[in-house]
Formats: sequence, structure tokens, C-alpha cells
Amino acid sequence: MTQRTAFTLTVSPKIPARLSRLEELSNNLWYSWDRATRALFSRLDQQLWEAVGHSPKAFLRRVDESLLLQAAEDLTFLSHYNSVLSAYDSYHSEPSRYQAINGIEARDQVAYFCFEFGFHESLPVYSGGLGILAGDHCKAASDLCLPFVAVGLLYRQGYFFQTIDGQGNQQPVFCDSDFEDLPVKPALHDDGSEVRISVRFPGRVVTVKVWRAQIGHVGLYLLDTDLPDNSEYDRLITHQLYGGNKTMRIEQEIILGVGGVAALRAMGIKPTIWHSNEGHAAFMMLTRALELVRQGLDFASATEAVAVNTIFTTHTAVPAGHDHFPEDMMHRYFEDFYHELKISREEFMALGHTPGNHDFNMTALAIRMSRMHNGVSRIHRDVSANICHDMWPQIEPEENPIDYVTNGVHVPTFLAQEWTDLFDRRLGSQWRSKQHAPEFWSRIHDIPDHIFWSVRQSLKSQMFYGIRARLTEQNLRNHGSEAHLERLLRFVDPINPNILTLGFARRFATYKRATLLFQDLDWLRKLLLDAARPILLIFAGKAHPADLPGQALIRHIHQVADMPEFRGRILLVEGYDLRLARRLVSGVDVWLNNPIYPLEASGTSGMKAGINGTLNLSILDGWWGEGYDGKNGWGIKPVSENMEDSLRDAEESRAFYEILQDQVIPLYYDHSKFGYSADWVRMAKNSMVSLLPRYGTGRMVGEYVQKFYAPASRQGTGYSQDNFAIARSIAAWKARINAAWDGVSVRRLDTPGKQLEFGSTMHFKLAVKLNGLQPEDVVVELLLSRQYNKTRLSQFKHFRLECTGPLGSHEHQFELNHVPELCGRQQYYLRIYPYHPLLTHPLEMGKMVWL
Ligand SMILES: *Cc1c(COP(=O)(O)O)cnc(C)c1O
Repeated sequence: MTQRTAFTLTVSPKIPARLSRLEELSNNLWYSWDRATRALFSRLDQQLWEAVGHSPKAFLRRVDESLLLQAAEDLTFLSHYNSVLSAYDSYHSEPSRYQAINGIEARDQVAYFCFEFGFHESLPVYSGGLGILAGDHCKAASDLCLPFVAVGLLYRQGYFFQTIDGQGNQQPVFCDSDFEDLPVKPALHDDGSEVRISVRFPGRVVTVKVWRAQIGHVGLYLLDTDLPDNSEYDRLITHQLYGGNKTMRIEQEIILGVGGVAALRAMGIKPTIWHSNEGHAAFMMLTRALELVRQGLDFASATEAVAVNTIFTTHTAVPAGHDHFPEDMMHRYFEDFYHELKISREEFMALGHTPGNHDFNMTALAIRMSRMHNGVSRIHRDVSANICHDMWPQIEPEENPIDYVTNGVHVPTFLAQEWTDLFDRRLGSQWRSKQHAPEFWSRIHDIPDHIFWSVRQSLKSQMFYGIRARLTEQNLRNHGSEAHLERLLRFVDPINPNILTLGFARRFATYKRATLLFQDLDWLRKLLLDAARPILLIFAGKAHPADLPGQALIRHIHQVADMPEFRGRILLVEGYDLRLARRLVSGVDVWLNNPIYPLEASGTSGMKAGINGTLNLSILDGWWGEGYDGKNGWGIKPVSENMEDSLRDAEESRAFYEILQDQVIPLYYDHSKFGYSADWVRMAKNSMVSLLPRYGTGRMVGEYVQKFYAPASRQGTGYSQDNFAIARSIAAWKARINAAWDGVSVRRLDTPGKQLEFGSTMHFKLAVKLNGLQPEDVVVELLLSRQYNKTRLSQFKHFRLECTGPLGSHEHQFELNHVPELCGRQQYYLRIYPYHPLLTHPLEMGKMVWL
């Protein structure tokens, strides 16, 4: 072939004046949850819309001028355009609902840091659950008019697109984004110049460009190192999400944490509340401490000042899932940093220390430099409290300062349009503002069954169309025959979608056990091949390119799906992304989830399913441990955690087969003369009624505000006043406690009685050696609960002992008169811990002496 050069030329369409605001619409991710906006673009040119991956901005750069001119004269188009604009304008002009309530004030600003953000397929800077949760968090912050900015990285390659070849091998396709096509713009200073910042690296300085994406009311700042000013090597730092090795990872995390703070400062944004979603952004906390050290604080005081308005959310349930870096790598990147912090190498490394490990752990750093920490479901709180219990070595995990906020999903994004249309008609348009009122949602029960069912069926048939298109493409690429395709698609009938359809789609991480249902293929065969009551099983999901066991799962599914009797009954669909997720969660009948308990921190795809009337059949782990109420789906109790893996898989898969066989299949196929099962519809309605008010991100962000953001803002103000007087005094107080604590001890002076008549008084008297501390530096406490055999029947009640004076020269006497309120056998403990009224959490020092 002859050599030739491809020159490029970009011709931008001229947008007619009447449609001038299309550009604004294409640059605000409001469209990621407003379907009418997306429909406005797609109706101009459906084919182009598909070709540009549903990106309004990429679309607008390519659309035919003649179509725009036509549209500008087309009254139906104009009326659609005007109604979109009026909804857009009214959304964006809403007054701040959060001002003055819940302790968030106009001067407050939340800065939310995350490694990935998933809003819509048109901004590919997400991989899975974590990113989509972060995207949903921003969307809800926008809905609530919370003063909120988000910070992340602008990856050139985001996450890969997945194809699956004819042998079931995942083939990642990496695609460079043209930032001009993404809904982002360079962030600008007031004078119109682009915002650039520099980040120090060993022996060099990396320049970072700041981009801005608009999410309704919320600004998202994305950092990018792919600039001509940087070396070829440094240009690649923000190249790929979860790509590269540990060096790449630490450099990305430095850009996010250190660069993120610098970017906010450069733009004059003054956060009062800092939220690190996962540990990737924890260097943000060190950077802020450095700012304060530069202002003259010592590192300990700076840490108190930074931590008190910092929130750290952990999403992992396995210790190995926490990021960590070798000590010499940390040294290389942070030597200047800790010199400037005026702390030693040892003190610096101690910030990331975990017992039995030499690596620097980002979760440990994040916990030590924040005072509010949370897991993402009730179960995950306990798991995290156990994983992290060394951070508070003398505190029992059940009492340590890890809280939880159960995840949610952004309802407008994931609730299918058919439902929102139906709610508009049946519940009145005010349903949007009643999203948290459980009583309101019970009106779903008033929707006639046949109407409810027809929505379910219509969503399923749309999903079937989508699946057909994807599988057709997949088959063509893999050189499958027409006959093969026909066999694959024989049950995927959009006209008559009366086949019980189960869906499983999520990341193929091994703990999620995608292939659990293949434990007993004979049983599965019996269930799937029943001619009168057939089942269709749909799988989708990606495995990280470096995760070989995860990719082996994909191959295993492919092999089973390719067995002659299962062909067409088990489908493996490639290219899982937000778009396919929206389709699947709303279209299938049953959403499966069978992780190894308790490793599913929360899981969110089941919420997306449940709010759409898709029934969850899931292990009672993560969110479903709270969401399942016995009537809104099926819950499987995990067997003992101590059981051997193979036995547990066998036991739990049997539970799945049994529930499918005895409950799910009979319920679904219990068709009345109308062609659907009334009991199924009732359960699907229960699912929506119970989950819609509780698993939205509105509820979730509301809880973050109430539990963390508002107190963080209050404390942050308090700690910083008078040149950080409180931060300094807390740091000094902690130093005093740390120095003295090992010498603190307690002994009992009263004679413990074992029998007592109701109404009489117990007298407690302890001698406490305070080792130089003052009585007001500690709490001496009685913990009491009723007991039966070995079980505690009630929560402990806490009663404080009073200091009644010194005892000799080394001890203090503490006393309490207590009249037990309850009869029966009681269990009690006596203990002492350091206490200061201005701490965020009474046990944050992690110190405790028990008698
Ligand atoms: C919701 C979602 C996830 C997360 O699903 P889990 O159930 O939490 O594993 C992952 N990927 C996509 C595309 C999603 O929409």
C-alpha cells in the first residue's frame, strides 16, 4: 500500500439562533437524568445519536446543518425544545433548600473527592459501582441545592469497552476520548485564562490542567496531566482509570489529593467540609495539613484542624481491597513533604501503618486524618469496624467510631421513563418532591394490576430489543452463523416477552460468585428447560484486565451458555455499561445477587432493580440485609462464615435452586386469565413501595448532611477560631493522654455484692490511678445490661462515676450510687477512658482500661 497521510479537519455546525441553547444543554449533565433532554437530541438524528454513544456534545459537533435548520422551523421540535428548557430553567433557579436547615449555611461548601465518577455513558471516567455511586451523590447534591463541588481525574481512556470473543475471552478495547466531545470545558479564571496548577513530584514539577463539568447545580473539577508542558511520561499519569502499576497509581492519587486541593485554592473555592470517597484521595488531607503547617501550626494541631471537618467513606469489605504503597515508594514521593510538615520519616510512615504490614495503607491514613468515617451498609459498618479495629486498639469494634450510611441510587437516573410517565399520570407530578415519604408511595398499590404489568412488560420488551441488537453485533464479530444467532435469540422475543427472565450483571470480581448457579448443572437444567415454565438467564459484566480469575468466570459462563441445551437460555452480553445497566435492571423479572457474605459492602444494582419493580433474589448481604422485608423479593440467609468455601457454595446454591423452584417459578407462572400473576404483581409493587422512599440518593445525601456534613462544618469553625486555639489544645491534650495512659489503672474498693433486692442501691467505689491526668480528663463508667445465660438481652446502659476526691497521693476516688431499674440477672462492667468534650467521637483516642 502507498504511504498516505490522514489530515483532519473539523467543521462545526452553526446552531440556528432559535436553538442556541442546545449547546448549554449538551454541556450540563442534567441530561444524564433528564430523558426528555436526551430525546431532544436523539430525535434530530437517531442514527448519529447511537453512533456517538449518546453524547449530546459529540452529537452537536457532527449533526447535519440541514437537520438543525429544519428543526428550527419544526413546531413539534420547538415545542419539545421549549418544554425541556423550561424544566431546565426551573430546576436551575430553585432556591437552595439546604440553606439554614440542617446546619448547612450559605458559606458552607462540601468538597467531594473520588477516583471515578459515573454519570452517563457520554463521560467515560468510571468503572463500576464506586464511580456510579459518586455520580449519584453529586446528582442528589444538585437536587438538594447543597453547596457542593466534586474533584476527580479526567482520564484519556476511562475504563475499557468490553468485547467477548467466540471462546468467551474478554477482549478489552481501549479508546482515547477526544475531550472536545466530552461534556467538560476548561475551568477558567475570572480573567478568562485557563486554570493550571503545578504538583511537585520527585525531581520535577507536573503541570495539571483543570476541567469543569456541570452536574445541574454542582461543579465537578477534573484534573488532567496530558499537556505539552509535561514530559511524555507525565502526560500519561491521568491516561487510564485503574491502569498501570503502583507507581502510576500513587502518581494518580497524588494528582487527585495534592493537585485537587491546589486546584480548589487556585479557583478561590473555600470548602468547609471535605469528603474523601474511598482512600484514593487521602493525600488531600496531608496537603491541607501542610497548608496549616506553613501558617505556623505544628503537625499534630494541623491534623486535628484538618480531621475535624473531614469525612472518609470506605467501600471495601476485604483488607486487600485497600490501596497501599511500599514504604520506599512513599519515601521517594513524600520526602520533601514530610520535611516540610516538620515530622520525621517514622512519624510520617506511622500515618499509614497497619499492624503486621510494612506498606503505607491509604485507608489507615484516611482514618487517622479524618474524624468521621463510615461504611456503606449496616453489615459493612461492622465489617469495616473489624478490619480497622487496630486504629482504636483498646476499643471493641462494635463501639469504635465507624458509622454507616447505606448507599442509594439516583432515582431520576435509574427509574425508567415508563414509570415516571405513569407516576405523572397516576400520582400527580408532585411525586418528585415526595420521594422520601413512605405513605405516599403506598399509592402504587392503587395502580391497577394490568396497567402495572403492562409497564413491566414494555420495559422487558425494550430490554429484549437492546439485547438482540448487542448479541447480533457480538455474533457477527465472532463470525457466528445466522442459524447460531437465531438459536441464541429464540427466547428473546420482544413481541411476546412472557418468559421468566433472570439477570445478573456487575463487575466479575470473584467474591460476587457469578457462576454460583452452575454448581449443580442437572438441577439448573431441570429448572431452565421446563417447557411449560421456561427461564432465561442473562449475564453481563466486566473483569479488570489484570483480574485473571475474574476473566475465567466470564469464560466459564460462556462455556455453560454454549452447551447445546442451554444455548439461548443462558446469554452472556458484552459491553456492560451504564446504558446496558439501565436496561437490564428495569427489564428483567428477577435480579440475582449471590456474593460471599459479608463481602458485598453495599451493592447498588439491586436497588436500581427493586425501584423498577424487578424482584431481588439475593443473599442477605450489603444493602439487601436492610432492604429485604419478607414481601418485596427473596432473601437468602448466608450460611456460617466459617464453613469451607466449597461447602458454603454448595449450600447456598441449593438455597437458590430451592427458592427458584418452589417460589419464584410457580409465582411467576401462576397466570390468571389475564396472562399475568397477580401475586407477582403484588410483590413487584411491594418492592417499589418499600424501596423507592429508602434507597434513593436523596435519603443518602440527607443522612450524610445530618450525620457528618453539618457537624463537620460546625466543628471546623470551632477548631479554627482564634488561630486554631481548639485544634492546638486538643492536640496538646492528646499528647498528654498518650504520654500518661499506659500508667493509668483502676481498682475496686467496694465489695461487689451478687444479690440485691429490687429498689435497693448499689454503691460503687473505685480507686483510679490517673498518672498525672486530671479527673476531668477521663470518664469512669458503669456498663449494665440484662443477661440470660450467655446472651445480652438489652443494650448496655452507661452510668458515670463521680470523682469524690483524691485518695492518697497517687489515686482518685470515683463513686456511684445506682438503683437498678430492672429485675433479673444483670451483667456489668467498669471502665475508664480519656474524655474531652470537644472530641468528635468520645472514643476517638482508641484508649480504654477495663476493670
Ligand atoms: C449500578 C452499577 C454497578 C454496581 O453494581 P453492584 O450491584 O454494586 O455491583 C456497576 N456497573 C454499572 C454499570 C452500574 O450501573
